[in-house]
Amino acid sequence: MTRTAAVHNVPFDLGRIDRLTARFAEWAADTFSTGGFPQREMSALRKAGLLAVTLPGQPLDLRARHTPALLHLLQRIGEGNLSVGRIYEGHVNALHLISQYATPRQQERWFADARDGHLFGVWNTQMHDGVSMRMTAPQTVTLNGSKSFCSGSVHVTRPLITGVRYDADGNDRGWQMAVVPLDKHRPAVDESFWDTAGMRNSVSFKLDFTGIQLSDDDLLGGPGDYSRQPSFSGGAIRFAAVQLGGAAAILQATRDHLQKTGRTDNAHQRTRVGQMAIALRSGELWLRHAGQITDDPAADPSLIIHTANMTRTAVADQCSTILQLAEKSLGAAGFLHPHPFARLRADLGMYLRQPAPDAVLEAVGQHLLHDHATE
Ligand SMILES: Cc1cc2nc3c(=O)[nH]c(=O)nc-3n(C[C@H](O)[C@H](O)[C@H](O)COP(=O)(O)OP(=O)(O)OC[C@H]3O[C@@H](n4cnc5c(N)ncnc54)[C@H](O)[C@@H]3O)c2cc1C
Repeated sequence: MTRTAAVHNVPFDLGRIDRLTARFAEWAADTFSTGGFPQREMSALRKAGLLAVTLPGQPLDLRARHTPALLHLLQRIGEGNLSVGRIYEGHVNALHLISQYATPRQQERWFADARDGHLFGVWNTQMHDGVSMRMTAPQTVTLNGSKSFCSGSVHVTRPLITGVRYDADGNDRGWQMAVVPLDKHRPAVDESFWDTAGMRNSVSFKLDFTGIQLSDDDLLGGPGDYSRQPSFSGGAIRFAAVQLGGAAAILQATRDHLQKTGRTDNAHQRTRVGQMAIALRSGELWLRHAGQITDDPAADPSLIIHTANMTRTAVADQCSTILQLAEKSLGAAGFLHPHPFARLRADLGMYLRQPAPDAVLEAVGQHLLHDHATE
């Protein structure tokens, strides 16, 4: 699609990504109605080399400052299928955390796993029965408790999970990351947790890790590293890119519908499509700006966080605008399965739910009122 190719300098074959997006969109109705993990789509990503594309020396090498291109890729995958975008974003996030906090030996091991096709993910969210990690023998860590919203579920064979780390004396050492070799363990899976209208294919079940024993070499970084800034807040631009992909698919579905039903000459429909196109482009410009700030070695960490906070808020607003305009344009027909919009609105409506939106917007105001006058 030349639209975004013109916007980003993407150092890999854009045509290939376009073909993948088109294939995911083609499969999406079937994938949605069948439910479950999007096996075909994830195999296609694996086959296209995209599970390894951010590793050292690869086209989107995380150290080489390719954030705008990565955001473009995430948007296009989200456009094809939002659940696939969600799962893939978790994979990229985990590799990003590994590149920041793993020892060289751990990096070698986990990067080789990614090259071999292991799927990674980041499972941080939990309920009252969250995870603890206790040293129960020399070099042995025993897990207790559950994670909720585990996107990809047990198909993610290398999930990065977080939990409270306790030392051998039972002292709370803080919030710790660990990478669990899930091909070697069988956590209890609660599928009933994910009884949702949208994003069913992200299979974001609740998993109970109680009793699983890890080596201390499976621990990643130290306590507190997971929430270290600016990466923690700054990373929100990645899920925003996936969300905007869903909005792009909704614009496309609206166009298709109006063309098929001969409703393109109506001034209201034209106006709404115009508004949707502007909202989509605005979101893309926010992402491009955020990608550039993230990659700027001279950018102050507070600016990276502030920009990410503004970007995720703006993109969520643009997505909501596009959703509402599409609802008006399509009317009831769009809500009836198998109309693509019926699926897309359920998925995007759910995926727009991300942590602490009010606090993030408040932080934007706080930044301007108390810290920086003009940014
Ligand atoms: C499809 C999908 C996949 C996901 N996959 C993963 C995954 O793989 N790994 C993972 O770790 N997580 C995952 N999550 C969880 C996600 O990161 C969020 O934690 C989750 O979506 C919370 O959204 P929420 O709207 O309930 O947020 P909340 O933060 O609970 O916000 C809901 C509302 O409450 C307000 N609010 C928040 N805090 C307070 C407060 N203290 N007092 C008063 N009001 C408050 C907010 O501003 C908002 O208005 C996934 C979520 C979705 C939807």
